Amino acid sequence: MRIEQVSDSVYAVRGTNVNWGLVSDGSGVTVIDAGYPADSADLLKSVREIGHQLADVAAVLLTHAHLDHMGGIPALVEATGVPVYTGAEEAPHARREFQQQITPPEMAGLLGSLRGAKWVAQTAWAVKWHVGMSIPSATAGDAQTLAQLPGGLVAIPTHGHTVGHTAYLMPAEGVLFSGDTLVSGHPIVREQGPQVLPTVFNHDEQATRAAARSLAAYDAEVLVPGHGDVVREKVSVLANSLLQDRDSR
Ligand SMILES: [Zn+2]
Repeated sequence: MRIEQVSDSVYAVRGTNVNWGLVSDGSGVTVIDAGYPADSADLLKSVREIGHQLADVAAVLLTHAHLDHMGGIPALVEATGVPVYTGAEEAPHARREFQQQITPPEMAGLLGSLRGAKWVAQTAWAVKWHVGMSIPSATAGDAQTLAQLPGGLVAIPTHGHTVGHTAYLMPAEGVLFSGDTLVSGHPIVREQGPQVLPTVFNHDEQATRAAARSLAAYDAEVLVPGHGDVVREKVSVLANSLLQDRDSR
C-alpha cells in the first residue's frame, strides 16, 4: 500500500494494481472505492494512517461494482456499518442482481502475453475465494446526500465501463475520481499516461469513450484514476487530448 496526499483533504491510496481515495475533513472521511478483497486490511489501515479512526468514516462511494473496486467494502461495513452509495444503475450491480465483469474465458485470453499472465495471477490472488462477493446494502447516492458527506462530492454519471459507472468530483479542491472511465495505466498495457482501459474490460466500449470524453467538461486539476498514477493536469485537457490520440490510431 502507498498513500499519497494529493490536495489539502484528499489522499490517493495504491493497493494491488488499483487505487482508492480518502477525503478527510473536520467532520470525517469519505472513502471512494475500496480495492480488491485482499486489500481489505490495507483499506482499514489507510484510514488510520491519515489520522482518523474507522468510526470517522461517513460513507463509501463506489465508482462501479467490479471486484477490484468493491473488495474491501464488506470489511469496512462490518467494522463501521457505513452506508455504501453508487450510481442508480450501479446499485443493483453491486447487489449482484446482474453482473458485468470480465469473464473467465476473457481472462484466459490474456494469458498469451507476459503482462497478461502476470496480471491474471495477481488478480486471482487478490480476489481469492471472494469471486461471488456482493454488497447487499449498496444504494443510489442522491446529490444532496453526497454534498453533505466529508469533501462535498458530486456524482458524474459515466456509464460504459459498467452500466452505472459513476465518477466523483470534489469541486472545492478540483479533484476528480474517475474510476475506470479514465485511467493513467494498467498492468496489461505498456503505455503509461491518461488512457481508456482495454476493450476487454469495458461493458460498452463506445459509451466508455464517450464518458471519458465527457469529463472534459469538468473543472479539475488533479485526476485520481482507478488504475495508474495520480495525474496533476487539467482534466479538460487530458480528456480531450488522449481521446484524439487514441481515435486517430
Ligand atoms: Zn478496475
